[in-house]
Amino acid sequence: MADEDVKLIDEKGIRLDGRRFDELRPISIEAGVLKRADGSAYLEWGENKVLAAVYGPREMHPRHAQNPSRAVVQARYNMAAFSVPDRKRPGPDRRSVEISKIMSEALEEIVFVEQFPRASIDVFVEVLEASAGTRCAALTAASVALADAGIPMSDIISSCAAGKIDGQIVLDLGKKEDNYGEADVPLGMVPSSGKITLLQMDGNLTLEEYKQVMELAMGACKKIYQLQRDALKRRYSTSLKNFEEMADDTEEV
Ligand code: ADP
Repeated sequence: MADEDVKLIDEKGIRLDGRRFDELRPISIEAGVLKRADGSAYLEWGENKVLAAVYGPREMHPRHAQNPSRAVVQARYNMAAFSVPDRKRPGPDRRSVEISKIMSEALEEIVFVEQFPRASIDVFVEVLEASAGTRCAALTAASVALADAGIPMSDIISSCAAGKIDGQIVLDLGKKEDNYGEADVPLGMVPSSGKITLLQMDGNLTLEEYKQVMELAMGACKKIYQLQRDALKRRYSTSLKNFEEMADDTEEV
């Protein structure tokens, strides 16, 4: 991961894209963007653009994959061929299978799966543009889409990475930082309870550095949680407004 020749932080502590060590890239989230999905979300995070769609709970097929005592959350992460500067070979690969698995496992931690025996809850995430941190973006968007689908769940998951570049601990690594940095730690958590639902690490950290990384990423998850909640509130206040307008129209007839 590390490369001595690439300078990622200048002498004033400013990173290549102008951020300080503890700054996130800009994030925007919109819930309810797809009409045919039961729940959906569109998220932009720096140069990442991610769409999440949720279908279900619905009867699981093939039937032999059903769990008689609970629902199965099936997440599928896919990076579009045009999502990166060099065309990505379409279709699943080891990386997308891995990310789909860790997302499914994380989301099963928050959904009340025991309420839906034999069902599947399908979560599709399409990465339209990728620039490091897409698994965190995908998990963050998927949580909003699940909530938008009205699926009973304990809370939402927020996700963000922190790591080490040029010997310093930083939040939310960008593409070059991911390529040339020393470590990257994606974290997914339920900010209201502190429960950790995803934790991976690429690179090496000392125990002290690891603690700093976790503190930074957990703090960021709390901010992202607020953005997710705001997106859901906007979605439902708009729905409520439309409903009230429809009711007014009916009264006028
Ligand atoms: P994450 O996107 O969660 O950081 P990785 O660390 O595996 O996951 O990937 C870092 C970045 O590398 C991705 O966000 C994407 O920009 C790029 N990338 C990943 N896979 C490919 C690929 N097959 N072709 C080109 N770029 C890729």
